[in-house]
Amino acid sequence: MPPHSAAEPSRQCKVAVIGAGAAGLVAARELRREGHDVVLLEQQGQLGGTWIYTDEVDGDLLGRDASRRRVHSSMYQGLTTNLPREIMGFADFPFSTAAMAGSSIDARRYPCSEEVLRYLQAFAEHYHLTQLIRFNCQLPGAEGWPGLLMHSHNYRSAERFKGQHVAVLGASFSGQDVARLVAQQAACVYLCAREWTTQQQLDAGRGGAAANIQRRGMITQLNAAGGAEFAVGQAVPQLDAVICCTGYNYSFAFLDLQALGLSTAQQHVAPLFQHMFVPGQGPGLAFIGLPWRVVPFPMFELQAKLCARVLSGRASLPPAAEMAAWVQQHEKLLAAEGRPPSQSHYLDYKQLEYHAWLASMCGRDVPRVPGWRAVVMHAYWLWRWLLVTVDEKAISWVRHYNRETSPPPGAGQLILAQHALAHPRLWRHFLDDNAKPVNPLPPQVA
Ligand SMILES: Cc1cc2nc3c(=O)[nH]c(=O)nc-3n(C[C@H](O)[C@H](O)[C@H](O)COP(=O)(O)OP(=O)(O)OC[C@H]3O[C@@H](n4cnc5c(N)ncnc54)[C@H](O)[C@@H]3O)c2cc1C
Repeated sequence: MPPHSAAEPSRQCKVAVIGAGAAGLVAARELRREGHDVVLLEQQGQLGGTWIYTDEVDGDLLGRDASRRRVHSSMYQGLTTNLPREIMGFADFPFSTAAMAGSSIDARRYPCSEEVLRYLQAFAEHYHLTQLIRFNCQLPGAEGWPGLLMHSHNYRSAERFKGQHVAVLGASFSGQDVARLVAQQAACVYLCAREWTTQQQLDAGRGGAAANIQRRGMITQLNAAGGAEFAVGQAVPQLDAVICCTGYNYSFAFLDLQALGLSTAQQHVAPLFQHMFVPGQGPGLAFIGLPWRVVPFPMFELQAKLCARVLSGRASLPPAAEMAAWVQQHEKLLAAEGRPPSQSHYLDYKQLEYHAWLASMCGRDVPRVPGWRAVVMHAYWLWRWLLVTVDEKAISWVRHYNRETSPPPGAGQLILAQHALAHPRLWRHFLDDNAKPVNPLPPQVA
């Protein structure tokens, strides 16, 4: 038995979960499984959170005006998941067409956003979560540049950029994805990243179906005539739009952060023990879903299990001083690695370690990430790393392979190698290019 864990739940709590997105839904399931009395408060009229697509956008496209009309979802047309569905789903409710019981509309390995929404709806239905949700319920609580300035949160479709010259700021997952989609309509897309500091890095990647994505360093100046200058790379005399794919700020309007001793400055929530609990506040408040560069759903699931068990007394948190010491150690480590506080919740390759810690805190009966999932995750990261480091061309090949029916020569082998690395038992399945994704070792739907 792990040090902070008891055999039986000894407490039953009344718990409010804010938001019926993926994290809120799995939190509600775990809390109810643990015997707690749960209500899910959702400000919208529908479950699914960020996976609900709408044409509507914020009143202020850059999100600077605090009084703007707000739209929650950042979903846009043409988005397909950036994770293979085999690893994306919850541990005991796989993201497979079988589990979705007839509601699937896109069986591809990297499906469209509507398929994810349907998966979450199927999950809620299977575990009878909808009756726990109170919908429509909210808790109280480059001046002068002539072009269009917007945040990716408000990006919906590429059509408005037809024939235009567009800069996409930020080249992480969403920046690359938005650039690729906009390039299908735009005359030219300039993908700008702080990390590109040499001409050599700019020359390494000229992407897009029509080779119309060019790399640039960060924008240093937007001028009144509509042009832009960059830290590295040739200036552009006329830009029509800039799309900022620069990430998100944390905001908890329903919490008195000051009273809790919490801050959301510098794009992280602090101080938090293991990205979840406020040292000294007990388990009554828990954050589920803060870590990023992760496979979110299975992580939400383990975080939710731990939250439910510390509330019931089946697991317990370390003393406040120990939690505070963890926070200090975490900050020191971040500084030693030369990473800014905004990367506090960035896990990436450390996420399996985090999963293992969560599971061990929950108790022996909570399974670690199954071997095949862990290997697929590793293979996936290796694949992404290869794509980003080796060749931009490989990105378009693999994308093409994953989304289209007739892959160009070479792409099949690349994907096969990716998955062969993942698990020998996947080989046979992936030799068949037309096979639909399946869970290689399907866990039981609970
Ligand atoms: C463009 C985009 C692409 C992505 N692609 C992938 C992918 O391919 N694979 C993947 O696994 N993940 C992807 N993600 C990550 C995605 O955010 C997570 O998978 C997951 O859906 C997040 O779930 P959540 O419950 O934390 O947040 P959300 O889905 O945002 O849900 C939060 C919910 O809380 C509600 N809410 C907020 N404030 C209040 C309040 N005060 N009162 C009541 N309700 C409130 C909101 O209305 C919403 O329903 C993507 C994200 C984006 C933006």
